[in-house]
Amino acid sequence: MSKQLVIGEVSDGGFRNVSFEAIAAAKQLDESAEVVGVVIGESVASIAEEMVKYGADRVITVESDKLKEYTPEAYSQVLMEVIEKESPEGIVMGHTYIGRDIAPKLASKLGSGLVSDVTAIEGSSQFIRPIYSGKAFEKVEIEEGLQFITIRPNNIPALEKDEGRNGNVEALDVEVKDLQMIIKDVVKNTTSGVDLSEASIIVSGGRGLKSMENFKILDELAEVLGAAVGASRGACDAEYCDYALQIGQTGKVVTPDLYIAVGLSGAIQHVAGMSNSKVIVAINKDPEAEIFQIADYGIVGDLFDIVPKLTEEFRKA
Ligand code: FAD
Repeated sequence: MSKQLVIGEVSDGGFRNVSFEAIAAAKQLDESAEVVGVVIGESVASIAEEMVKYGADRVITVESDKLKEYTPEAYSQVLMEVIEKESPEGIVMGHTYIGRDIAPKLASKLGSGLVSDVTAIEGSSQFIRPIYSGKAFEKVEIEEGLQFITIRPNNIPALEKDEGRNGNVEALDVEVKDLQMIIKDVVKNTTSGVDLSEASIIVSGGRGLKSMENFKILDELAEVLGAAVGASRGACDAEYCDYALQIGQTGKVVTPDLYIAVGLSGAIQHVAGMSNSKVIVAINKDPEAEIFQIADYGIVGDLFDIVPKLTEEFRKA
């Protein structure tokens, strides 16, 4: 029986869903594995059991006021100690901004293989991941040694929550020392309050919105749908919205169930960040716009007519 370590991620006092998806991924690697969750933060013990309900066998918590916000220095000190103590065969975490940052650091320290941005798993050691900005997929295998993978959110479904599942939650003391960087404050920058990288619906706007004021019509549609708001770089460059919303090759990579592209042309660099969305709806007045080539449903017309009507109709539903 192998041991798989799953690193949970906490945001706003709860787990990011990708933490539960990572548990499911660990089980896919080895159905009979002991899955050990790891939760790091200032005060995380109270939520740790959630990982058990989603399939972890036990959970290790590491708490300290120095761990309130993620820093690569502090988290790598903690994780190196946990990995040393547990000697797992595999480590799974989300391909989030934390996973992207810390996984290569840890893998190089451990001298282990790392497959990042995994969207599917085949067997016990073959991983599918997108390459060339999502235009192709490659199959990667780690032949031996510790398997370290980061999984793309919204691709490997979490197991169903089982309220009756029990498992130990163990506190581990780790002395976090010699930190050169301390985060004093974090300013959140989402318009709708829904996290873009994990949203199941995204309403994304481009330069066709024409102004910062007009961009707000997307907030209204997003609110009705429980969606997050995203943007093209064109919209960000034009200062209609913050760069935190940018989707694409140099922005965020997203895989929602539904992506509504409004007044954006579908430039290759934008498509790189959203082409794996499950259903794509495009609204554009130009029937030749490139976005229609990858859209499942297209509406040709003026977004200023269409978006308010959609908002109104969804509000009734
Ligand atoms: P436009 O291309 O100007 O498209 C606006 C669209 O709105 C048009 O299709 C138009 O028909 C439509 N429209 C206008 N008015 C209306 C209306 N009233 N109703 C309906 N439709 C309307 N871009 C990204 O998005 N993400 C990235 O990560 C990214 N990275 C890049 C990296 C590099 C190195 C480079 C060189 C570029 C990058 N870009 C990126 C920029 C990209 O090439 C495009 O310039 C950008 O995506 C265009 O934004 P847009 O689609 O909003 O604007």
